[in-house]
Amino acid sequence: MSPFRLLIAAVTIAGSVTSSQTLFAPDSSARRSREFHALHYRLELAFDHKGKSVAGSVGIRLTPLAGPLDSLVLDAVDMSVSSVRLEAGRALNYRYRSPSLTIRLDRTYAFGETLAVRVTYSCTPSKGLYFIYADSGGGRHDQIWSQGEDMDNRYWFPCYDYPNDKATSEVIGTVPADWTLLSNGRLAGETRDAKKNTRTFHWIESKPHSTYLIMVAAGRYAIIRGKYRNIPLEYYMYPADTALWSSTFGRTPAMIRFFEEKTGIPYPWEKFDQIIIDDFMWGGMENTTAVTLNDMSVVDARAAIDFPSDPVVAHELAHMWFGDLVTARDWTHLWLNEGFATYCEKLWTEATRGKDEFQYEMIQDSFGIRGDERMLGRKPIVSHDSHPANLYARGSWVLNMLRSILGDEAFFRGLHAYLVRFQYANAETDEFRLAMEDATGQSLDWFFREWVFGAGLPKLEISKAWDGESRTLRLVVRQDQQIDSLTGYFRLPLAVECTTERGRTQQVFWVSGKEDTLSMALDGPPLMVIADKGYRLLKDMHFPKSDDEFIYQLKHASDVADRITAARMLGDEGKEPPVREALQASAAADPFWGVRESALTALAVMRNDSSKGTFLAATRDPSSRVRTTAARFLPSFKGRDVAGCLDTLARSDSSYMVSGTALRELASVDTVRAFEVARDLLSREGNRDMVRRSALSAMRTAGDPRAIALALPYTDRGNRDDVRRIAVSVLGRIGKDSLSARERLRALLSDGSPSMRSAAVSAVMEWKDQEFDSILAAMEPKETSPEVLSILKRALHPPHSSEEEEEK
Ligand SMILES: [Zn+2]
Repeated sequence: MSPFRLLIAAVTIAGSVTSSQTLFAPDSSARRSREFHALHYRLELAFDHKGKSVAGSVGIRLTPLAGPLDSLVLDAVDMSVSSVRLEAGRALNYRYRSPSLTIRLDRTYAFGETLAVRVTYSCTPSKGLYFIYADSGGGRHDQIWSQGEDMDNRYWFPCYDYPNDKATSEVIGTVPADWTLLSNGRLAGETRDAKKNTRTFHWIESKPHSTYLIMVAAGRYAIIRGKYRNIPLEYYMYPADTALWSSTFGRTPAMIRFFEEKTGIPYPWEKFDQIIIDDFMWGGMENTTAVTLNDMSVVDARAAIDFPSDPVVAHELAHMWFGDLVTARDWTHLWLNEGFATYCEKLWTEATRGKDEFQYEMIQDSFGIRGDERMLGRKPIVSHDSHPANLYARGSWVLNMLRSILGDEAFFRGLHAYLVRFQYANAETDEFRLAMEDATGQSLDWFFREWVFGAGLPKLEISKAWDGESRTLRLVVRQDQQIDSLTGYFRLPLAVECTTERGRTQQVFWVSGKEDTLSMALDGPPLMVIADKGYRLLKDMHFPKSDDEFIYQLKHASDVADRITAARMLGDEGKEPPVREALQASAAADPFWGVRESALTALAVMRNDSSKGTFLAATRDPSSRVRTTAARFLPSFKGRDVAGCLDTLARSDSSYMVSGTALRELASVDTVRAFEVARDLLSREGNRDMVRRSALSAMRTAGDPRAIALALPYTDRGNRDDVRRIAVSVLGRIGKDSLSARERLRALLSDGSPSMRSAAVSAVMEWKDQEFDSILAAMEPKETSPEVLSILKRALHPPHSSEEEEEK
């Protein structure tokens, strides 16, 4: 599964409301024992889109596991069960109390025997299977799709719903005649019923997988077909989007080849399909052979500059090996799925965009991990309710550190051995460790104890001293993290690089205790000392140096990470001109965009007029990220040329992100001009209405009353929800005295969509307007949506904490 990053990123630049999506947290129950092993599931289901229901049967072939079996329990939530039979036909007694269906067998079955039961049922699932309606507006499509992980498939078919059992599966699904239904495995057949006007698809997954990976997704799709070797690849897109296939999915075959090479395991399933769905709560989901993807993953070439689909496509594809072929035995070992898939995204970056980009992404992830730890406290990766950052980013970082300790060849050989040993089966962390140990001969117990079963990070305090007489550099490395049962002193390979007049030398020291002193003999005094060369350790590091040393490092360090650190350390108010000049030079000419961006950010902190030219020049940088940063800070400089430059960027930059940022900043320096640009951009088409969203949010900031008439049509139902919400916020910001704005907001407060009602409540809550206050008060007792209720509560009963503080 992958979180909603594309959407979050896209929405943030457009200045809209951010998503309230909570990240997946595994259950806290202990690992489940099982009495039987399911061999095969056969789902025969008719899907009723209008009625939001499913009816049919599930056949399960199984074999006793614990001992003689005279009854069995299936997970089945809120179903209406009409019969349970042996496949041979005989009816069986059963007792159904949601969430468990207990079936009494006709006799006792011994270990080694197999039996098959068939449950006939119907249900209106509240989870696991989702029904989407085109007439609910927002550019949606009629659809049905499932999301099994973590344990929601039990809401639409009875099964053993826990990852530690694997079975083959089969889905025979009936949908309206003009729909397509996708499921796992190969398409074995397709029939039409002219009388009922339906179509039935028969899919077979012939390799065993966990039940949470069983899926269906159905709707009206255009199917684009391709092939990698003999593996069929299909892409289910909305008919209007097929021109975006190449920018969205074009690299899929190359990715499959890449992961085959990295793992040494040929793609392990029958086919690989990807399907776009609406209203998905995740970025993507790795259902075996049939990945579901958020509609935000579909990008045009312009959006792909800043929001490429590669990370989510690579992530879900990598799960075909890590997660689907080898599956975490229980949810506490979920990093074996998610950490690995996340690391595979980085490997794809490294292969296609180079070492610098790879290092930069790892640095960004390390910030996320440290931020989560500060906010949520320390937790081991393997623990109940582990943080998402642990399962994804820290898991990925752990693999990267393991790779640097073992070396590339041994690391990937170990991964291969692990996949071979546990293919089509389950594994847990110790089994992964043992596979790596067996393949490489290295004892890794200490490493897993520190990084996977322990928590926290090394906090390194480093100081250095040069002894000219003995020509020795001494480094004192202290580990300053809190030491307790969760976190100890880490054993770390610390690569140190020293540069002297004559050249560079590098040495790796193993540091381990509270304090270590390292010595390096050099041919002269060091000009630059880099600790953790190559950014191989996940850590907090404090290594004080003089400005001159950091200037040298900014100019000469070979790793992106070290130049970025230098830029950050130099960015402070009250620095001498040489610091500014070095940062200006770096912002203009460093070969890597991430360093140029960091240098600009450091210069922005200094707020010195002499940097204005650097920022103006950076708006023409080849990297859209650098141009975005330049646009973001330009308003802190005076002059008519600032607004002119932002105007040009907003109207004509090749990146949506730059254009959106420039427009937003323009609204903060010249509201009239911003309104005019926004008005011109409002009708422009762009990926997922990105331009329109930026234009509306700039209008909101600019506050020109002419925006009311322009925003009103975008509050209509035919528009995307995100566009409607921003248009509503424009009315809230400037429409208090406008009759038409008030009338529309009144109507929206009783709109059928909870998301529109909450947008309307947010829009009027600051008004302190008698009419609307009484409408809100009347709404509260009738409101059923928790999302709307929570905003209503804030509107009607604002917290008083600030007043109390004033009294103190
Ligand atoms: Zn994932």
